[in-house]
Amino acid sequence: MKTALPRRSFLTRTLAAGTAAAALPARRVRAVTAGPAPSITVRTLGTGAADHDWKRIGEPGVRGSAATLIDGHVLIDCGTTGYTNLTRFDIPPRALTDLLITHSHGDHFAPDQIFNVLEARGPDLPPLGIWASPQALATLARAQPGRFAAHPLVAGTVFDVGRLHVTALPANHLLPDPSEQALHFLIETPCGTLLYALDGAWLLKQARLLIGKRRLDMIIWDATVAHSGDFRAFEHNDLAMIGLMMASLTTTGAADSRTVCVLDHIARTLWPADPQEAEKLASDRGWTLAADGVPLHLRRAPQQRVPAVMP
Ligand SMILES: [Zn+2]
Ligand SMILES: [Zn+2]
Repeated sequence: MKTALPRRSFLTRTLAAGTAAAALPARRVRAVTAGPAPSITVRTLGTGAADHDWKRIGEPGVRGSAATLIDGHVLIDCGTTGYTNLTRFDIPPRALTDLLITHSHGDHFAPDQIFNVLEARGPDLPPLGIWASPQALATLARAQPGRFAAHPLVAGTVFDVGRLHVTALPANHLLPDPSEQALHFLIETPCGTLLYALDGAWLLKQARLLIGKRRLDMIIWDATVAHSGDFRAFEHNDLAMIGLMMASLTTTGAADSRTVCVLDHIARTLWPADPQEAEKLASDRGWTLAADGVPLHLRRAPQQRVPAVMP
């Protein structure tokens, strides 16, 4: 973690370093870069929108329901294929300590799948921490009271799970119970900062304010729609919308050319069926198309190249 220096001592050290460098005799200066920065694994286990035929999970072209495993023990969302998302990639449910729920649409929040996870963890472990809207927690508690540690979330809630420092952000995504607020997550880690932004169209102003001056090392976007012109644009993104947001976030300093831009929540019917064609839509823009089970590595972008004095 970076330790903040008081401004005065920061300036003093910076000026001192500048003076020392100026005093050095003219010698060859070489730019060196450190080895790869430490990283945290972000594994997208299910990357599909709700139009995939989940009876055929595992077949080519069938993406699982949205779920992402962070740092090996924090799962985001457990919907229709939630339990299978773990077992098909040999992730033992016992490895999970916490479950974060973005919203209670069935492809993100399926109580039967969550109960399968609780059952498979066994009774000897500390209860699974479940962080979700009060409405989702009430649904779970009615069926399985006392089986998990309930942590209600509203937009703006800040909490820690393991090495993750999480802020719940409001998302533009309407639910059947309009009193429930869909959430995105701003996840700060010792290795970099991740914005997990699905489901939802655009970024709400309140979310932008909660992100504040933080620089995002990775953004996982709701990319349900490939091409513009779809009516779902009022609650899911298309690629043009993501392009506009990346540009605005870059202008305001929250993102830059090193920010890893990941497309997730891919609709079967709103993306090309040909995997290479779909991949090209992402790679042409310098973005990453998420795939089930494929790990990503969240790491802080390298700082400016460090000049080193050579003998
Ligand atoms: Zn969804
Ligand atoms: Zn949804």
